Amino acid sequence: MDHDEPDLGFATRAIHHGYDPTGFSNALQSPVFLTSTYGFPSVEANDAAAALGGKLYGREHNPTTEMLEQRLASLEGAEAGLAVATGMAAVGALMLSLLSQGDELIVHKTLYVNTIAMVEEALPRFGIKVVSVDLSDPANLDAAITDRTRLVYFETPVNPLSGILDIAAISARAHARGVKVAVDSTFASPALQRPIEHGADIVLHSLTKYINGHGDALGGALLGDAETLHKLHETGLRYITGATLSPLASFLILRGLKTLTLRMERHSAAALAIARMLDGHPAVAWVSYPFLESHPGHAVARKQMSNGSGMLAFGLRAGYEGARTMMNRLRLVTRAVSLGDAHSLICHPASLTRARQSIRKNAHLAEGVGEDLIRLSVGLEEPEDLMADLRQAMAVL
Ligand SMILES: *Cc1c(COP(=O)(O)O)cnc(C)c1O
Repeated sequence: MDHDEPDLGFATRAIHHGYDPTGFSNALQSPVFLTSTYGFPSVEANDAAAALGGKLYGREHNPTTEMLEQRLASLEGAEAGLAVATGMAAVGALMLSLLSQGDELIVHKTLYVNTIAMVEEALPRFGIKVVSVDLSDPANLDAAITDRTRLVYFETPVNPLSGILDIAAISARAHARGVKVAVDSTFASPALQRPIEHGADIVLHSLTKYINGHGDALGGALLGDAETLHKLHETGLRYITGATLSPLASFLILRGLKTLTLRMERHSAAALAIARMLDGHPAVAWVSYPFLESHPGHAVARKQMSNGSGMLAFGLRAGYEGARTMMNRLRLVTRAVSLGDAHSLICHPASLTRARQSIRKNAHLAEGVGEDLIRLSVGLEEPEDLMADLRQAMAVL
């Protein structure tokens, strides 16, 4: 069988794409190439590899990582991919490769907390102007775009509120003015949402989350057209960040990917059941989950996502203090940052921000994130057990 047949379905490609076992003793699992460099039979062959972008050195080339890149590109419907050390390494490689002094970047007003630090504190130091816009109305983009705008960057679903932004509408407006669009699709994974199919140019993932899915590796990826990805590889990875993914992490992430389709179905079904339970609970003030009919982005979510994913946010009537009390009473759900794991993980951004201010004075909650917001990453445990744990934790409120 040709493992790279383009008309194979998503779940099949998540298991097979990019690996041909015949070259490797028919080993079922792809090999891990733990090597920092590559030997050459002659100095001419060494020159040729350097000139043609062949395998020369482990910072830029590794067969295991290339397998992961090909598989991710196939799953996102992209021409090419680049895997790097973390999701933030992907943000860094993207922005520092595509933006220069005098350029302007448009971002949605709410972003992952370290992406906020990047666009508020790092990029302005290099003369890059960052314009923060509420993209929940795509029409707001028109007035923000100037002839210096190089990139529009947003997440959907948005971390941590699970807000939904319309990829097709934003991309159409950006493209009408000749501006590229990059989407951080970490909260959905390619099993539920493929931004390129809706008009985006570049997709970013924290592989640490759903794509690996087992909480045992960090990674990041960028997917898009071959020309842009070549630039991100040849500058962003090679000499701007040098943030290479470990081949062992590539292997773990390839292994995690094999069950992505199944995991996302289960995460989504459990999260919807829990969102409904919370919605009807007397201690709960509000719930935000894209596949709840009450979510303001519900119609757009239905259009661009095949399921709701495992991320939801909610607030208690007892607010900030109520969130702390409830979280301390949880026995099964783990108090932790990160998301997309088999374990259910819960965090309270307002508490984390107060703690962070002791090390980074400018740390602040993202726009639109209240002191009461609790973010829950619904894992793969029995949904009934998770609901029982949440109910007993809220019983004292
Ligand atoms: C976690 C996360 C990142 C950063 O990824 P790391 O792998 O932790 O560096 C970026 N974007 C979103 C939406 C995330 O949740």
